[in-house]
Amino acid sequence: SPCGAAALRVTDVTVRFAGLTALDSVSFTVEPGSVHAVIGPNGAGKSTCFNVLSGVCRANSGSVRLGDTELTGLPPHRVAALGVARTFQNLALPPRATVADSLLLGRHRLTRTGFLAAGLRLPSAAREARAHLRRVHEIAAFVGLADDLEKPAGALPYGQQKLVELARALCMEPRVLLLDEPVAGMTADERRATAAVIAGVRDGLGISIVLVEHDMGVVMRLADAVTVLDLGRRIADGTPAQVQNDPAVVRAYLGA
Ligand code: ADP
Ligand code: MG
Repeated sequence: SPCGAAALRVTDVTVRFAGLTALDSVSFTVEPGSVHAVIGPNGAGKSTCFNVLSGVCRANSGSVRLGDTELTGLPPHRVAALGVARTFQNLALPPRATVADSLLLGRHRLTRTGFLAAGLRLPSAAREARAHLRRVHEIAAFVGLADDLEKPAGALPYGQQKLVELARALCMEPRVLLLDEPVAGMTADERRATAAVIAGVRDGLGISIVLVEHDMGVVMRLADAVTVLDLGRRIADGTPAQVQNDPAVVRAYLGA
């Protein structure tokens, strides 16, 4: 793709539900290797925006492009296969599975060797399984879960479980990672640690991140760019400092 191409380009996306415009011609551009926050009061359209980006929700009009690839209208598994991974606001981990199992699940879509080869214990399948396990260990180490791989994911403290969810998304080797409220429900220490991991994903892995987050401290420290939505419309777009001082943003948050 051409030098300087956007990681993700959202152009004039409109989503209507019966009698309600959840997103009204919203546009923004996620630069490669950046953290781009999407913020706004309740009902602003943040979740709808995420659902459009991940293919869960089909836009009535507008387009979403990943680099040079058109994502508009593709189903979630195709969007994921093209390199857009997401985490969920509420944990979606199998409770009894170990951390290692949960992360291997994230690698499932990358598995080339079919179940037949695996069942026949072909050397190619064994080689591939070892490569996946090696990568799972690398990613676990990257997010600070190296010592927890054999523990049941559900037995870890909440903050660690959210990191498992993040690591599982990283196991899909995404180009763009969509994080839905990654520090919600965390203690102050967990918030700091998670923000550092997210910065590390951007800086160390070069993955672009779209972040929906209510914690303004985290947004202001972490985001390179911020898009502010209110009632389905984009009301501001810029650096954290720019949007923070924007009168329209202040009004939207105060409900005035
Ligand atoms: P946010 O995540 O910013 O709080 P949402 O994207 O969840 O906002 O919602 C935006 C608006 O769209 C809200 O008014 C919400 O009630 C409405 N909405 C969201 N999903 C649906 C749906 N599936 N059907 C009807 N209305 C919806
Ligand atoms: Mg929401």
